[in-house]
Amino acid sequence: MPENQEPHVTQKFVYDFTEGNKDLKDLLGGKGANLAEMTNLGLPVPPGFTITTEACKVYLDSGSEPPALRDEVSAHLDALEEKMGKKLGQADDPLLVSVRSGAKFSMPGMMDTVLNIGLSDASVAGLAAQAGDERFAWDSYRRLIQMFGKTVLGVDGDLFEEALEEAKRARNVSTDVDLDAGDLKGLVEQFKGIVSERTGRDFPQDPREQMDLAIRAVFDSWNGERAKLYRRQERIPHDLGTAVNVCSMVFGNLGPDSGTGVAFTRDPAGGQQGVYGDYLANAQGEDVVAGIRNTVPLAELETIDKKSYDQLMQIMETLENHYRDLCDIEFTIERGKLWMLQTRVGKRTAAAAFRIATQLVDQGLIDETEALRRVNGAQLAQLMFPRFDESRTGDGAVERIGRGIAASPGAAVGAAVFDSATAVARARAGEKVILVRRETNPDDLDGMIAAEGILTSRGGKTSHAAVVARGMGKTCVCGAEELQVDLRQRRMTAPGGLVVEEGDVISIDGSTGSVYRGEVPVVPSPVVEYFEGRTRPDEQADELVRAVHRIMTLADGERRLRVRANADNAEDAARARRFGAQGIGLCRTEHMFLGERRELVERLVLAETDEECEAALAALLPLQKGDFVELFEAMDGLPVTVRLLDPPLHEFLPDLTELSVRVALAEARGEADEDDQRLLRAVRRLHEQNPMLGLRGVRLGLVIPGLFTMQVRAIAEAAADRAAAGGDPRAEIMIPLVGTVQELECVREEAEKVIAEVQQARGVDLKLLIGTMIELPRAAVTAGQIAECADFFSFGTNDLTQTTWGFSRDDVEASFFTAYLEKGVFGVSPFETIDRDGVGALVRGAVEAGRAARPDLKLGVCGEHGGDPESVHFFHGIGLDYVSCSPFRIPVARLEAGRAAAMGSGEGSDSR
Ligand code: PEP
Ligand code: MG
Repeated sequence: MPENQEPHVTQKFVYDFTEGNKDLKDLLGGKGANLAEMTNLGLPVPPGFTITTEACKVYLDSGSEPPALRDEVSAHLDALEEKMGKKLGQADDPLLVSVRSGAKFSMPGMMDTVLNIGLSDASVAGLAAQAGDERFAWDSYRRLIQMFGKTVLGVDGDLFEEALEEAKRARNVSTDVDLDAGDLKGLVEQFKGIVSERTGRDFPQDPREQMDLAIRAVFDSWNGERAKLYRRQERIPHDLGTAVNVCSMVFGNLGPDSGTGVAFTRDPAGGQQGVYGDYLANAQGEDVVAGIRNTVPLAELETIDKKSYDQLMQIMETLENHYRDLCDIEFTIERGKLWMLQTRVGKRTAAAAFRIATQLVDQGLIDETEALRRVNGAQLAQLMFPRFDESRTGDGAVERIGRGIAASPGAAVGAAVFDSATAVARARAGEKVILVRRETNPDDLDGMIAAEGILTSRGGKTSHAAVVARGMGKTCVCGAEELQVDLRQRRMTAPGGLVVEEGDVISIDGSTGSVYRGEVPVVPSPVVEYFEGRTRPDEQADELVRAVHRIMTLADGERRLRVRANADNAEDAARARRFGAQGIGLCRTEHMFLGERRELVERLVLAETDEECEAALAALLPLQKGDFVELFEAMDGLPVTVRLLDPPLHEFLPDLTELSVRVALAEARGEADEDDQRLLRAVRRLHEQNPMLGLRGVRLGLVIPGLFTMQVRAIAEAAADRAAAGGDPRAEIMIPLVGTVQELECVREEAEKVIAEVQQARGVDLKLLIGTMIELPRAAVTAGQIAECADFFSFGTNDLTQTTWGFSRDDVEASFFTAYLEKGVFGVSPFETIDRDGVGALVRGAVEAGRAARPDLKLGVCGEHGGDPESVHFFHGIGLDYVSCSPFRIPVARLEAGRAAAMGSGEGSDSR
């Protein structure tokens, strides 16, 4: 044995419910861990045991159960039988068990469950006698063969359903409940026939064999196609495996004093305390899901069975106090005796998450730091989208026609159009449209850009439509399968036959997945009204607004990271400030050269003499200065990082193809325009195959004389103006796309000369900082050298991701990222969430080298990742000073920065 290898310790694969606890979710799965917790709390849980995820992993890796498993299961089964005073499948009084899957993360309906294990030809009469109900016994046996046949033996489930339908037809009845014991006995024979015919073997009569096969089927279901797809979509790792819970059966279908239900300790939609849930008398859990009969509100249980109701209320209180959170519960009442079948910390809406977190603080159940952990940035972002006025979705003009996957949040209204070209044409004409497709592909991109929202009838959360829409921040509902989209006829048909023709107005809700015919009124989010300062978080305010205010105050108190905005104009800067920005981390100056000013840039590019060049720059200078004055005023007293021009110059010039055609046509007509010909020569000269890797960033500053110095002068003069007006400008000059310190040295030297001139002329000390972006791998790797010449680094993680992976940031998300996400190459686009192992490692290295060279170096990030929750935790962990993001994401970044500090996020931890 190699020296450092642990000696082999016998692994325990089976835990009795009395042996586990809620913190063992990795090993026992969520369901098993919580069943154990409830058992140990003394709550009425039917006895049972859990087979660990480790056993599942051994099975999945090796193709067979761990050798020790059989004996361990036998020992636990013996103990269970002892406790219950009867044996599995015992002929005169059979112990029956359920075999249920239960992974660490809930995967609803994705894996298998088999109920009533232990029933057989030998024991069905015993069950009938014990229950005093022959119909019940045969129905239970029928259900076992059906479930076992389908999930364990792989028989087509429709065959059983058809036989059941046939039996009902023969009896002229419409529901299963109307079949009597004789009918069900007949069905059992038929079902056994189906099993033998389809599998070549008889339905197993040995109860232990039934149990072992069911356990194996649950293990196998971890790798079923549905489960794999679900994990990819929910970013659940594939190697966790599932636990298996073997639990003694209790029955809610033993008559009117029995039943089954679900309950929440608070309203999962709004967070209020109260009695929330549903109850169905004389039924098993499966009947509730199947919707055969209507449930009644849980409150009615009080009149049906007061004793059980009171006990349930008591248990719910116990659970909430114990878990210190909203719990959801499944329970069964068997002849007046209440049993708890499941509990877990319940899912909730974003609004409820904020409300519940603050309510629990007020109740003294959690402290404020814990409240911060209980909410997250994704929930806050959801609360900031405009939303449909729910009260108006039920009136005659509006009707819900379907529901799909809520793929990208928001509320969008527009005319349904069924192809991209129509979307573009109608949007150009000023109409709002929703692009409806079966699924989208890269050819639909123009239409997606033009549309208010996107609706597809196929595909999940990682479909092309979903990925691209999220990237664009556009509302998207995908996979609305009940809607039949007919692209040829340009219409879609809803389940009741209702037809939406092209041009009909529809509304889609990307936060819930709902699709409506007609226009649902959109209302602004009360949370945005609060951030905008239009709603005060006082007594009169909505409870949600007060909760958000409290949580944000907590986050701001906890966080170490400062949060700045990416903003290029005074309006965005002012909004960012209202949203809590502590400065501007990136002002992209290229946006200041668009519109009417494009012509001045054209003049600069076309200049053939130094004089022409200087004249063009001189014309730009006052305009630039004016922009900066406004910006410094809006951010008075806070840092404003102005980036010198970054994009390739051809972006300001006409398109090469269009211009070539124009010139060629003019020449053919004998009307050649000299200006156009000159322009075309310049466009050709500047044309690059790979402009993103071409003449851009600092390279422009080194190649085009006077460009960067004009910008530096504009910044310095604007700052001097503001200072003279009594303001407190704090400008920082940022050089983009630096790859080597020599580039920075050249620009810095020139910039310092200009700043000195302005300072001298105006008699002020401007205290301007000069720093650089780190957005090339070479810059990251040589950060120690670059820091010698920089007052600050701002990580441009958009370009750094592009250049590290070699992914074109403008193309890949719409082309092959869907395939990459589906194949699990990565769980999320590296342009959305920082790739910690690659790009993140470069950033971390540059931080360490930069600080070592220059301990007072300021460090921030201004790529899109600066507003991404997961990435904010990483940036906190590696010790950046600030993150900078678009104004709308500032509250999310503030919250996550606070959570990262409260959770003590190291670089390895995540935001979940
Ligand atoms: C970046 O590359 O991360 C960045 C912020 O610059 P831009 O997106 O303008 O290239
Ligand atoms: Mg960049």
